[in-house]
Amino acid sequence: MWVQRLLGRSLGELRLGRQISARIVNESNIEVQPASGDKPLTFPGVWLRDNCQCDDCFHGSSKSRKLDWDRFDTRIRPVDLQADELAQEVVVRWSDAHESRFPLKWLRDRSFEERRQAEYLRDFYRPPTRHWSGAEFQEIARHFSYDEVMAKDSVLMHWLQALAVHGVALLRGAPLDEGVVRRLAERVGFIRRTTYGEEFVVQAKPGAQNFAYLSLPLPLHTDLPYYEYKPSVNILHCVVQTESPGGSNMLVDGFHIADILRRDHPEDFDRLCRVLVDWNDIGSEDGREFHNIWRAPVICLDSAGRYTRVNHSVPQRDSHFNVPLEEVLPWYESYARFVRLAIADSHAFKTQPGDVLTFNNIRLLHGRAGYDDSEESPRYIVGAYLDWDIIYSRLRVLKKKLHSDSDADADSELGSQ
Ligand SMILES: [Zn+2]
Repeated sequence: MWVQRLLGRSLGELRLGRQISARIVNESNIEVQPASGDKPLTFPGVWLRDNCQCDDCFHGSSKSRKLDWDRFDTRIRPVDLQADELAQEVVVRWSDAHESRFPLKWLRDRSFEERRQAEYLRDFYRPPTRHWSGAEFQEIARHFSYDEVMAKDSVLMHWLQALAVHGVALLRGAPLDEGVVRRLAERVGFIRRTTYGEEFVVQAKPGAQNFAYLSLPLPLHTDLPYYEYKPSVNILHCVVQTESPGGSNMLVDGFHIADILRRDHPEDFDRLCRVLVDWNDIGSEDGREFHNIWRAPVICLDSAGRYTRVNHSVPQRDSHFNVPLEEVLPWYESYARFVRLAIADSHAFKTQPGDVLTFNNIRLLHGRAGYDDSEESPRYIVGAYLDWDIIYSRLRVLKKKLHSDSDADADSELGSQ
């Protein structure tokens, strides 16, 4: 293999072979022009040294850095550049006498350009959410065949993508057995266990330990707001639906309600983002007593002001409210506004036997109209939870697999969606 070697000491632009050019800029950065005419990409030297891919610095099979950070020098400088034109690699010699090789494709994929970073975050990290009003529900709600989700990776990927973007998706045609939610969860990863077990059955139960196990109307809420680490996605499989007029599901996009407050009632919005509410759940399940408490605002934001979750539950809000006295009434007023807006925007629909309703539990509020539970008109729903960590991980693995699959079958499968 022919390697063209050039020294970087003279600085200025160095042509490395016919296409790649690279130079050291500001003593510590490296500017790479992948091909003549391309926009140059700048990489900080400290980051390149930290990400050296050689066997001493990087453990290939675990894809993990093993560089000795006890001795890492943040003032490291590149002193020499080479290009391996045939291998399409840039070779860097460092002030600590170490040598690193970086494939051009690897560098391009990690470009510090704002546009490329935004693409990566949008297409690979997490897709941005699209918020919807109740009136838009029919338009945004995607339907998938349960059998196709189970059989085809591309359909599995599109279901999870829809769930991430819209917070809701419906699977149809599932068999009417109690194993569906487990098989579906295991197609993605594994069930998230909670106080109420792995799979749970929602049907009217005498002496219920949980408000959901009554046939009364179930007001809009999020599940388990009293957990620090909340289960992310609800899977509700309708096995038997009541013949009575009630039993409809109600859904609201909590992020949309937060958008309305942010725009029209900024003081309420700020208060609901700021005031810590004591969410709680006390009881026992399978002979085990529990007392869960988690303090969190109704609307939770990340450092960039994007919503991470909403919390809402009338029954599972503690009578302990550990805020200053003067915060209490204003908070009630703001919260009451949030709840009224949510009720006004809620979309009701009734699932049919074989439907599996899946939705983001830390974004959507859900509820159920009351129904007449009797032996002639029962209602039987099996539920389970999945976590976003597991879903996003699966989604990324599928995207990598399906996007790199060059065989025509996978391509046509993707194209038909
Ligand atoms: Zn190395």
